[in-house]
Amino acid sequence: MKSYDFLVIGGGSAGFNAARVAAGLGKRVAVADGANPLGGLCILRGCMPSKTLLYAAEVLHLAQAAKKFGLKIPRATADMRAMHARKKKIIAEFARHRAQQLTSGHYDLFRQHARFVDAHTVELTGGTRLAADKILIATGSRASTPPVPGLADVPCWTSDDVLDLDFVPESVMVLGGGIVACELGQYLRRIGARVILLQRSAHILRDHSPEASAVVQQAFRDEGIELFAGTKILKLTSDRRGITAVFAHAGKTFTRRARHLFNALGREPVTAGLGLDAAGVRLTRTGRVATNRWQQTSQPHIYAGGDVCGPDDIVHLAVAQGELVARHAFGVKGLKPIDDTLLLNVVFTNPQLATIGRLESQLKKKGAAYLTASYPFNDHGKSILMEANYGYVKVFAEPKRGRLLGAEIVGKDAGELIHCFSTPLAMRATVFDLLRAPWYHPTLAEIITYPLEEIAEKVKGAF
Ligand SMILES: Cc1cc2nc3c(=O)[nH]c(=O)nc-3n(C[C@H](O)[C@H](O)[C@H](O)COP(=O)(O)OP(=O)(O)OC[C@H]3O[C@@H](n4cnc5c(N)ncnc54)[C@H](O)[C@@H]3O)c2cc1C
Repeated sequence: MKSYDFLVIGGGSAGFNAARVAAGLGKRVAVADGANPLGGLCILRGCMPSKTLLYAAEVLHLAQAAKKFGLKIPRATADMRAMHARKKKIIAEFARHRAQQLTSGHYDLFRQHARFVDAHTVELTGGTRLAADKILIATGSRASTPPVPGLADVPCWTSDDVLDLDFVPESVMVLGGGIVACELGQYLRRIGARVILLQRSAHILRDHSPEASAVVQQAFRDEGIELFAGTKILKLTSDRRGITAVFAHAGKTFTRRARHLFNALGREPVTAGLGLDAAGVRLTRTGRVATNRWQQTSQPHIYAGGDVCGPDDIVHLAVAQGELVARHAFGVKGLKPIDDTLLLNVVFTNPQLATIGRLESQLKKKGAAYLTASYPFNDHGKSILMEANYGYVKVFAEPKRGRLLGAEIVGKDAGELIHCFSTPLAMRATVFDLLRAPWYHPTLAEIITYPLEEIAEKVKGAF
């Protein structure tokens, strides 16, 4: 039996980065990943393929709106075979690079699934056993099938299938109103499908403010998505013509039909078959691997990182958790746990929705004193000339000195603009600090100065 300082189960974003850092610390490292091809969710079936396709759909949308800009672009349509081929080529290149990193010789790579036989030993699919002082569980997540009446009995797509389409579906019923449902629902609409989106909560993107969600909902409806929030699905059935959903909404019963069903109701951690009982690793009530702020599980030498433990399915968090695990496991001094007051979140719908730091709902719940100001994109020069009128920028700051607490942006390229706040927030800057910086005109970014100025006035007015 081979033994290592560090064994990583799963070579995705969390696992790869943990292995990289541990190897850099001079440790003997092994990575086990049974996937073929290697690459992890982000590269193969998550962020990268979805953003490749969403960007193409945005270009198409702009081309179709050419008249607004005084342009003639007749019959702009999606060439799905070409889009699909382009996506495959881009993703293959990213995956090739990741596989190269994983086989670089800095650590031993075992291309097999692993399961615990005890708290220090795992068995690989072929029967080989590996032992390690420290172990990381980084097995990711998979699409789940919640108990919706009829869902288990009808054919449905997951995000994997939507990302792999090489044709324009005639119509798609999207179940869910989370990030994946919204991003890919809009993508399907933009390539030419009729889209019906059914969401259980009162508004889509329920982790965000109703105000922000309302902007995205409006944009969806303006693009022709038939969107029902606050629904309860009563029955899903299928026949050779497609899917029928019967659902309750606003006190009435509705029936809608579509050729295809897209289950975007959520994901679940990959823990089945891992032998966590044999290792004495406990799960949370929601089935994630339970961890403390150093990513240690109920067995302190076994860590978890990424989607398998959460709390959010976001790549930069998975990376940060993986790096933290490697440093904590091998005694690097001066470490800090991941700072949840800096949480950064982006939804790549169009308009995009991005938040950083404290959300207004969190400030209210905590009873924290804060100042806020917002400014709409439809009154901002650069966005007006870009015909990008949806949304606003909203800033939250502490009232005494105007220290930034958080920001919410809905609008064109919000996912880029939100980064104007990343460094200042991490450095505990005030609105006055941000206003000392230069802001070029005309840019989308300069819109941020308006709420900053308003808050600065309020802070000064308090003295
Ligand atoms: C459609 C979609 C779009 C997304 N877009 C974004 C986005 O724009 N931005 C963002 O931040 N996040 C996005 N995400 C989420 C993001 O992709 C994940 O949070 C992230 O990739 C999770 O990384 P991970 O390391 O936890 O898991 P993964 O990358 O899934 O890695 C887990 C690895 O473990 C391996 N494994 C599983 N079980 C075993 C076992 N028993 N033994 C050995 N190996 C095993 C798997 O083969 C896999 O390679 C998106 C997700 C989806 C589905």
